[in-house]
Amino acid sequence: MNSHYIIGLDMGGTNIRCAAVSASGKVRMLRRGPAHADATASRVAENIVQQIRALEDEARRRGMGAPRAIGVAVPGPLNVHTGTVMAAPHVAAWHSFPLRTRLEEALGRRVALENDANAWALGEFWRGAARGYRNVVLLTLGTGVGGGLIVGGQLVHGRNGMAAELGHVAVEPAGVPCDCGARGCLEAYASASGMQKLIERELAARRRLPPRYLDEEGNFSVRGLTRAAQRGDRVALRAFATAGHYLGIAIASFLNIFNPDLIVVGGGVAGALRFMRRTMRAQIHARAFGAIAADARIVRAALGPTGGVVGAAYAALHPANRLAS
Ligand SMILES: [Zn+2]
Repeated sequence: MNSHYIIGLDMGGTNIRCAAVSASGKVRMLRRGPAHADATASRVAENIVQQIRALEDEARRRGMGAPRAIGVAVPGPLNVHTGTVMAAPHVAAWHSFPLRTRLEEALGRRVALENDANAWALGEFWRGAARGYRNVVLLTLGTGVGGGLIVGGQLVHGRNGMAAELGHVAVEPAGVPCDCGARGCLEAYASASGMQKLIERELAARRRLPPRYLDEEGNFSVRGLTRAAQRGDRVALRAFATAGHYLGIAIASFLNIFNPDLIVVGGGVAGALRFMRRTMRAQIHARAFGAIAADARIVRAALGPTGGVVGAAYAALHPANRLAS
């Protein structure tokens, strides 16, 4: 079969995932490579091109033919009209960087560019937890908090593609500082980096975080924090209860604004959803309209690390789901 696979690439802070995705959304091949995110702007883009070419070569060797379309998901706000990445949290050199033009020039064909959380939302909509639903709010609780919105079966881009920065809605007006420069954003309470800062503040008297919250390399780890919560660790349980409280405040607003079928929660922090549910539910119950909240389900994302590549492929395959460029 001279198959029509689609290339979906997801650019993370340390790794790039690049996949050959079938027309029905199945991952047929997945390669992982270094992101080289601290290199020059052009070098980071060249690395993306190399990863795509390597996947194309491998697909050709396997008799899969040429890709039908190429989609690339990147972190940070981007302008989907111009294909410009405004700023990327992990790629310091990308400031107003014309990534789509660079990729299209190098590859000699069109490339669909999408924000990574938007891509994940499309992936869950196509093949994951949100399959069959038309109105979906996706929250990625990772190092930061990302968001994706699907309304009436269409991804919401807003004026130029920067809509759905759901991690930066204020949940505590005079709250703790957020990396974006504002105060009291959801991200400052319900992301791994936000939780780390809150715990460090709580344990300020100690010189460093207890080893039970750290990974093998001595870095703060949500997995370690989750394991500590499972053992009844009070600091860990309190951190998740706080995250759940603020997540509930944000979700209550999303429910009232969008009346979604489904709220999908993904990322490392979502692995501890059970420790957040009580405080989250309390805030949703207190703030969302009962008739809206009663019908809305809050579920874990189903695709995990392949959500971005599947969604990037969907974005490439469905230009109608995107703004004209
Ligand atoms: Zn913020």
